Amino acid sequence: MVKLTSLAIHCLAFALCGMVAHGQEISSTMTGQKIQLAVHGGAGTIERSKMTPEKEQEYRTGLENALRAGREILQRGGSSLDAVEAAVRVLEDDPHFNAGKGSVFTSAGKIEMDAAIMDGKTLAAGAVAGIEHVRNPIVLARAVMEKSKHVMMVGAGAEKFAKGHGIETVDPKYFFTQDRWDAFQKIKAAEEAGADGSKKFIISDAERHGTVGAVARDSQGNLAAATSTGGTTNKLPGRVGDSPVIGAGTYADNATCAVSCTGDGEFFIRASVAHQVSVLMELRGMSLSEAAERALAQAEKLGGTGGLIAVDKNGNIALPFNTSGMYRGHIREDGKFVIEIYK
Ligand code: ASP
Repeated sequence: MVKLTSLAIHCLAFALCGMVAHGQEISSTMTGQKIQLAVHGGAGTIERSKMTPEKEQEYRTGLENALRAGREILQRGGSSLDAVEAAVRVLEDDPHFNAGKGSVFTSAGKIEMDAAIMDGKTLAAGAVAGIEHVRNPIVLARAVMEKSKHVMMVGAGAEKFAKGHGIETVDPKYFFTQDRWDAFQKIKAAEEAGADGSKKFIISDAERHGTVGAVARDSQGNLAAATSTGGTTNKLPGRVGDSPVIGAGTYADNATCAVSCTGDGEFFIRASVAHQVSVLMELRGMSLSEAAERALAQAEKLGGTGGLIAVDKNGNIALPFNTSGMYRGHIREDGKFVIEIYK
């Protein structure tokens, strides 16, 4: 009997190792307390041929730093909400990504940022849009969720709320990066050239937009999602994308999954992508990856490109995208990071 039990344990351990080796997910029902965290730094035309090894390493390091910040919280039993906020903050502070420092410019040459966070346990959510002075819009989104009776606040009112709650504000110069400014100038030039057709449209969609996001499952089984963005280069002042729209770019429900999207916001809003993933799981009984693919296909059908990251209540993850690349990372079973950029 004793022999049989230890044999059974060996078999189970062997089976688990095999699953990890093949990159499959092990559900929490098997491991008990599975934590999971995935992050993204935007999707678009990201081509290996146009990337230098140094640049690629910088993006990888940025994603790793975000995963490290979130994993540290999850490993000591912290909440998924704290983990996604921490991971997104790191990406907002990293000038390589289009959120916080490094955000893209509006057609007026200014920076207007959007962000949202959602707690899968309570379905509480907070979102902000048109933010110009708050260093970390995700921190403000969380404050809106926890310290106001509202879900979404925009512009001057949101910034006044930030100041009233001691949230760090900065001069808009802080967000400036030369790369984003150059991309904006290229788009402007292409627009002007459009009139006489003498110049080609030379900007890739990776230069045009981008977003950062995180989804997590903590050791209590609670899910959370957070998304933050500068939106799309040359957007009209006042334009708001999908990222801060609960159900479009950001969604979390402990009963199903947590989702953060990136891509052409207008299409993601119209297809309610993030909420779609949850609904397809809940009402159609789809797996996380089936639901994520299907919801993304809805945006694609309308003409939208992009991707999403999602984690389900069992800690499985899905990271689909329909572009040539998406900056993304997650934590492997053994606690190590997996960082990927291309298809
Ligand atoms: N979804 C973002 C927006 O439309 C941009 C992006 O993710 O690339 O604002």
